[in-house]
Amino acid sequence: MKHDYDIKGRFAPSPSGRMHLGNLFTALMSWLSVRSRGGKWLLRIEDLDPQRSRPEFARLIEDDLHWLGLDWDEGGLDDIGPNPPYSQSRRADRYAEALQRLVDAGKTFPCYCTRAEIMATQAPHQSDGRIVYPGTCRHITSAPPRRPSTRLIVSDEEIAYIDLVAGPQQFNLARECGDFILQRADGAWAYQLAVVVDDAEMGVTEVMRGNDLLLSAAQQIWLFRQLSLTPPEYAHLPLICNSAGQRLSKRDDSLSAEALRRRFSPHALTGLMAYMARLIPAPEPIAPARLIPFFSFDRLRQLPRHIVVSDDLSAHGGIF
Ligand code: GLU
Repeated sequence: MKHDYDIKGRFAPSPSGRMHLGNLFTALMSWLSVRSRGGKWLLRIEDLDPQRSRPEFARLIEDDLHWLGLDWDEGGLDDIGPNPPYSQSRRADRYAEALQRLVDAGKTFPCYCTRAEIMATQAPHQSDGRIVYPGTCRHITSAPPRRPSTRLIVSDEEIAYIDLVAGPQQFNLARECGDFILQRADGAWAYQLAVVVDDAEMGVTEVMRGNDLLLSAAQQIWLFRQLSLTPPEYAHLPLICNSAGQRLSKRDDSLSAEALRRRFSPHALTGLMAYMARLIPAPEPIAPARLIPFFSFDRLRQLPRHIVVSDDLSAHGGIF
């Protein structure tokens, strides 16, 4: 039986820009979730993409979390704890070892398709941007003269899990995404592989993040199974969207941590986010530590799938 004090949650931002309100919201909820049960909180730096990741953004992530009043027990740039390093760019040996296990078990295949070739196979009605790999290289007999990526074979079956916030989920990976990439042709590690290897090795029991990653959870559960590892529990939060209804991105300057820190005190911003999560009845200033008794999965389950906020978080926490 798992005791509350065995709970380990993690926050795993990518240092490709300054955090925005959505990242801070995820961080606060994840921190509250584990703190409300006496668990541990881990900070992992997901700097897998060398083109987009910058050490100065990783430092700003730590600074913004400290500013808000969130502390971590493990991880971060100082590599605190028993499972260093906590930056993905320095964990390639772990990913290579896991990949080799999958290759040896016959669960992968080399794929020579270019993006353009895969795009040409997609059904024209598919407007949501989702790409389903059509299985072209699964049984390839002659290899073109280019470096392959490595894909994980998925099976045509439902992957079901109970999300602690979004409720029961079910995905057929063959239909939703097809065999997916573990290592790109240029050698870069795929997010899915890195996250699974790291969550397993770091003993993460609870993954809280935005609900744009619901399908990723099914991919990750499949990957955990292929590696004979136990997946954590998943809790996918409502997506915070701008006034145009789009999920926040690094381009939403007015809701970046930089702009928010200029406008609000840490307690004022914490109060706004707690109100967005309906943990408190009004957007009043409060310290994260004082919110701990108010954290409730039941409250989070009642939230809409998207929370639309005004660009300046004006009246009523800016929630439409
Ligand atoms: N690094 C991912 C991001 O910043 C988060 C992935 C995760 O939480 O699993 O979007």
